[in-house]
This record gives sequence, C-alpha cells and structure tokens, in this order.
Amino acid sequence: MTETFPKNGSNRDRVLERMRAMAGEDADWRGGKTWSLVYYGGDELAETLKAAYSEFFCTNGLSPFAFPSLRRFEHEVVTMTAELLGGGPEAVGTMTSGGTESILMAVKAARDRGRAERGIERPDMLLPVTAHPAFEKAAHYFQVEPVHIPIDSDLRADVNAARDRIGDNTVLVVGSAPGYPHGVIDPIEELAALARSRGVPCHVDACLGGFLLPWMRKLGHDLPAWDFSVPGVTSISADLHKYGYAARGASTVTYRDESYRRYQFFAYTDWPGGLYASPSMIGSRAGGTIAAAWAALHFLGEEGYLRLTRQVLETTERLKAGIAAIDGLEILGEPPASVFAFTARDADVYALAEGMNELGWGLDAQHLPPALHMMVTPTHAAIVEPFLRDLGEVVERVRAADDGSRAGIAAVYGMAGALTDRTPVRELLIDLLAQLLPGRAGDHA
Ligand SMILES: *Cc1c(COP(=O)(O)O)cnc(C)c1O
Repeated sequence: MTETFPKNGSNRDRVLERMRAMAGEDADWRGGKTWSLVYYGGDELAETLKAAYSEFFCTNGLSPFAFPSLRRFEHEVVTMTAELLGGGPEAVGTMTSGGTESILMAVKAARDRGRAERGIERPDMLLPVTAHPAFEKAAHYFQVEPVHIPIDSDLRADVNAARDRIGDNTVLVVGSAPGYPHGVIDPIEELAALARSRGVPCHVDACLGGFLLPWMRKLGHDLPAWDFSVPGVTSISADLHKYGYAARGASTVTYRDESYRRYQFFAYTDWPGGLYASPSMIGSRAGGTIAAAWAALHFLGEEGYLRLTRQVLETTERLKAGIAAIDGLEILGEPPASVFAFTARDADVYALAEGMNELGWGLDAQHLPPALHMMVTPTHAAIVEPFLRDLGEVVERVRAADDGSRAGIAAVYGMAGALTDRTPVRELLIDLLAQLLPGRAGDHA
C-alpha cells in the first residue's frame, strides 16, 4: 500500500532503513546483471564522486555569479571535453542534465539558427532511423519535421538517401558515433560534407562514444573520423554519465564555435522577478552533478580512462567471441566499440530475452530487426563466463520449446513488427506509463 503524507518526521536511520528495504527488488547492477543503465567505474571513484557531490550538495548552477566554483568546474569540464572531441580553441559548450537534454539543445539551436539566418519557417532535420529517440522528442517538442534516413546493409546511415532528401528547409543533419541500437558509427565524413555543401549544421551524437572513441584511438584502434576534425561537424553531444563515469545527471553539448551555441541560450527581460537568462532546458541546476563531473575527470585522468576503456574492450571481445560461438547466434554489423546487438537465426530472440531475464539478466530487446542489446561496462569483466553459460543454455531451451506461441514482450514485439502503423503500440506504451505512476484511486499496490 502506498503511504499517505506522514504526519510526523522520522529519524535518519529509520528513513534510510525503510528505503533500503524497498530497494530489495532493484536490478542487480553491482552483480553485472544490467546493461546500459549503470556505468560504474569502481568503488574508489564512486566514493570520490559522492564526496564531491556532497561538498556541493546545496549549491545551484542556475546563477553563474553566486558560485564561481561551479562556473569554473563547468568551464573546465566543457573545454576539456571539447579538446577530447577534436574541437579547436573556438569550441564552446555547456553541461546539461543528460544526453537527452544535450540533444534537445542541439536541435533547438539548429532550428533557431535556421530561422534567424536562413528564414526557415518549416524546419526539418535528416535523422537516420537508428538515431536516439531523444531526436524524435526534440522534433516533437520543437516542431522540427524528422526526415528519416534508412540504414545500409552495414546498419549505417545511407548517405545516398540523405543526399536525396536534404532540402531547403533542412536545419540539421544528424549522425551517431556510435548509434545505440547496433553500436556502429554512421558515415560522419560523408554526412558532414553533404550538410556543409548546403550550409546546414551537422550534429554528431556521441553520447556513448564521446568518452570512449577518443581513448580507443589513443589505444591504437583504427576508427573513421567522426569528431570536430571533420569539416562540417558543428555540434557533438557526449555523456559524462555514461563512459565519462561521472554521477548521473551529467552530459555535454559542444559547438564548433559561439556562432552556433548562441542559439541554444534563452533570455527574458520582461519578468517582474528580474532579468532572466538560462543556458539550457532546465532552470535550477544541481551543483553536485557539476562538481562530481569535474571530480571524475580529475580522479581518473587520461590514464584512468585508458585503463577503463581497455578493460571494457577486452570484456567486449570475450563476450562477442562467446556469443558468436553459440550455435545460431550472430552479432549484427561490425560494431567497433563496446556496444553491440546480436540476434538468433533459428530461435525467437524475445523468448531468449525472457529466459535470460528469468535468470536475472536484464537484457534489453529491440526490433527492426529483432535483436538483443549489449552495452559493456567495467562491471561486466567479472560475469563473462556465467553470462555465456546461461545464454547457451537458454538458447537451447528456447529452440527446443518453440511452439510458435508468443507471450510477454515477445507478444508485444510480435504485434509491433506485424503492423505498418504502430499507433496502437504507441497508445499502449502511453497507457503503461500512466499505470506505472497511478493516482490514489488507481493504486492497487
Ligand atoms: C543514452 C543515449 C542518449 C540519451 O542520453 P540520456 O542520458 O539517456 O538522456 C542519446 N544518444 C545515445 C547514442 C545514447 O546512448
């Protein structure tokens, strides 16, 4: 039963004890059972982040004047990130609350730039179908028409299709490095060249790759150019709270120079509460996350990031080899980093996901085409063998038991896959969100 508002307060121990009890059924991220939600860089780093967060717990990044410490942390995090992303001395950016906010800001800035400098009233953006849904969210919030770009057989954005579809109203061309679903890097050089030839900005979504691909390059991996070293790339999103190993609620959006960033900012002069200016979507900004991001970069340093990257890549290779060795399983495309997807040739991948989930592995299913998603982090180094053993057993069980019937997520994805118009599935998802946070009348917990 959900409680009503407590009449009296409780003491600290009582509050925390009850909260810990409620966490009993949470996903076991410490045991390496989750993929993509938690990026844990080790106990010592975590303790450092918590301490930094606590020190600045009560501060607010809304005012650049009240807390010069936060302004300095943010400035240094942003300029260090810009350098890592191949930005020149002119590169500028801001910290945001996460990848979604970074992407919202990049799209909004491009839309406003298109309106101000090219007079575009009905903006569109070229969006590979594999781009993160945060771009669809931005399109929806800011009324920018998404023009979808299909992917090639190698799962990368089809540049010829992009060339056909770019138009006079295009305010942004998007590519990912790498994309979330399959972990492959879009042909950024070609996309950026196309955008540049038409005077259109090009955003690279490196929410995953921003703090991974630069270290991979330093470790000697041969990667295509994807960052500000590519002419025509005008903005990049890179998440501190993923492979930057910072505290959750931290990302960056970086622009080639101020002429692009200006359009991100907001200012209002007619409020009785005073003159108001804000760099990003949110108003008050937690000082703790900004401080913890600075702490992460300084605690780890280049050497720490290289060590974690090497560990993640080694673990990825072991997992990929183990998966490919299981009869019937197949890695999709040629993902260069620690994100990839695999599918099953003669077994239902959704039944496979359910079977793994029953064993406690929180594997995410995806579709178009059906596959299971893997995002490898340092925590997974310890679970490669038990994971592969369970996976092999579940594949055999699923294959033996397959009677063509579909339940659970298999049924939902089966339905979604069979429809050309997925509006009913969308309604189902909106209903599900509503049910997850019911009002008092609907509470049957
Ligand atoms: C995670 C991710 C995002 C969105 O980031 P959030 O921090 O979840 O808002 C965007 N793009 C890619 C490629 C991502 O992996």
